[in-house]
Amino acid sequence: MPRSPVEAQTPRMQPLARLPVFFSLAGKRAVVVGGSAAAAWKAELLSAAGALVDVYAPDACEEMLSIAAAPPQGKVRVHDAPWRPQDLKGAAIAVGACENNDEAERFAFAARDCGVPVNVVDKPAFCDFAFGAIVNRSPLVIGISTDGAAPIFGQAIRAKIEAMIPLGFARWAQAARSWRSTLKLSGLSFNARRRFWQLFTARALNDPHAEPGRTDYDALLRKTEAEGDAPDRGSVTLVGAGPGDPELLTLRAVRALQSADIILIDDLVSPGVLDFARREARKMMVGKTGFAPSCKQDEINALMIKLARSGKRVVRLKGGDPLIFGRASEEMEACRDAGICTDIVPGITAAQGAACSLGISLTRRRSARRVQFVTGHAENGRLPEDIAWASIADPAVTTVVYMPKKTLNDFAQNAISRGLNPATPAALVIDATGPSEKAVVRTIATIAGEIDGCGTAPAILIVGAAVQDSALLRASPTPGAGAHRQVTMPQ
Ligand code: SAH
Repeated sequence: MPRSPVEAQTPRMQPLARLPVFFSLAGKRAVVVGGSAAAAWKAELLSAAGALVDVYAPDACEEMLSIAAAPPQGKVRVHDAPWRPQDLKGAAIAVGACENNDEAERFAFAARDCGVPVNVVDKPAFCDFAFGAIVNRSPLVIGISTDGAAPIFGQAIRAKIEAMIPLGFARWAQAARSWRSTLKLSGLSFNARRRFWQLFTARALNDPHAEPGRTDYDALLRKTEAEGDAPDRGSVTLVGAGPGDPELLTLRAVRALQSADIILIDDLVSPGVLDFARREARKMMVGKTGFAPSCKQDEINALMIKLARSGKRVVRLKGGDPLIFGRASEEMEACRDAGICTDIVPGITAAQGAACSLGISLTRRRSARRVQFVTGHAENGRLPEDIAWASIADPAVTTVVYMPKKTLNDFAQNAISRGLNPATPAALVIDATGPSEKAVVRTIATIAGEIDGCGTAPAILIVGAAVQDSALLRASPTPGAGAHRQVTMPQ
C-alpha cells in the first residue's frame, strides 16, 4: 500500500533544569548587599554588564573599594550602611552576600516583595536565579550552568569552551552589530540578507583573528549581490545521517540541518539525529522501507522540487550514506532537470557502522583484499537475479549485503552452491551503532538461522574472512563504546 509524505511530530524538548536568559542591565539599578570578596566579585560582574550598582556594606573590603574607584562599566556606589528593605525599590536585580540564613531570608523576602529577582551567594534555597560560568566575547556571551549539580565540572567546561572560541569572535560579533542596520538599508531582499550573514559567518569562522573592517563588509555585500537571486530559488541538499548514532554525523551534515527550512526524512534516520536540526525547520517523514508502506519515489521527487521552487532550503535526510543504496542519482537527476541547485553531504554507511560494531576491519592484508556492497533485495522483493556469484565466492573478498533480511536463506544457499566455503564467517549486525545494536557471528552456512532475532530493526550481513577478527571483541572490548553490544561467536 502506498503512503503519502506526512509531517513528522517534532519531538518535545527534553526537560530543562534552568532557563538560560540573557538579562540586559545597561543603565539599570542593581543592589548588592555585603562587603566581602564574594560581594565585590558580584558588584564587578553587574557593573561589567552595565548596571548602576548600589552596594550596602558598613564593612566593605579593599577589593570592593577599588572596584568602586575604577568600575568596569556601570558606576559602583558603596554605601557605608546596612541595607534597608526600601533600598530594593526600583532595582532590576538584587544580590546578597548574607552572613546567615536569617539575613538571607529577610533579604530574599524584601527583594521579592519589591518584585526584584534575587540571588543570595552560596544559599540556593533563597535564590530566584543563579550565575553561571561565563565565556565573554561580548557582544557574544556564553553562559554555562550545571544547576548547582557540579560547579567544578561547569568550570572545566567553561575552560574548554574558552579555548575553543577565539578572542577574535568578539570583534566579528561587534562588526555584525554595527553592520546590521547598514545592511538593512542596502536594498537587499530578506533572503539575500540571510545569505550575507551566512557568508559573514563563514568568513568569521575561517579567519577569526582578522580585524573586520569596511572592506570586509563591501566584499561580502558584493559577493551576495553577485549570487543574484539564487538564494530565493531554494535548493536541495542530500544529507547522509549515518547509520544510527547521531555522533557519527559529519560537521557539514549538522550545518546543513541547522540551516534547513524543511527536512524530508527517511524511515531509517534515527530520531536522535533530528536534535541537531533547526527547531523551526518543518520535518516530514517520507519513508521508503522494504516492509512498511512506502512513499512513491515520484511523489518524493515532486515534493522536493516544489518546495525548492518556492524558495525553501530542502534537506533530504537519508540513513547512512545517501550515495549507497539511497536512490540518490534519481533524486539528484530530477532536481537538476528541474533546474534546482543541489548539493550532497556524504555520511557513514551502514557497512562502516557494522564493521565498527563488530570491531573489525573490512579489509585485511592478503585475506580480505576487496570489499563489495551488494543488495539482497531486488525491486520485486526477491534476491536480485544478477548477483555475480563468482565474486561472492572469492575467498579474499568481504561482502556486505544491504537489505538482507527477506532473502538471507536464499543468499546463503546460492553463495555456497556457487562455491563459497560454507565455513566462511558471516555476521548479522542489527541496528549498528544504534541503541538496540546487536551482532551475531556464525558461518555463511548457519547465519540464516539467526534472522528471527532481527525484529523490525535494520540489519546488515557481512561475509568473509575479515569477520573472524571480531573475536578480538571478546578478548578486549572496545573501551567506553559498545557496552551494550552482544556479540555471539561461532561455536
Ligand atoms: N544508504 C544507507 C543504506 C540504505 S539501504 C547506508 O548507506 O547505510 C537500507 C539498508 O541499510 C537496511 O536494510 C540495512 O541493511 C542497512 N542499514 C541501514 N542502517 C543500518 C543499521 N543501523 N544497522 C544495520 N543495517 C543498517
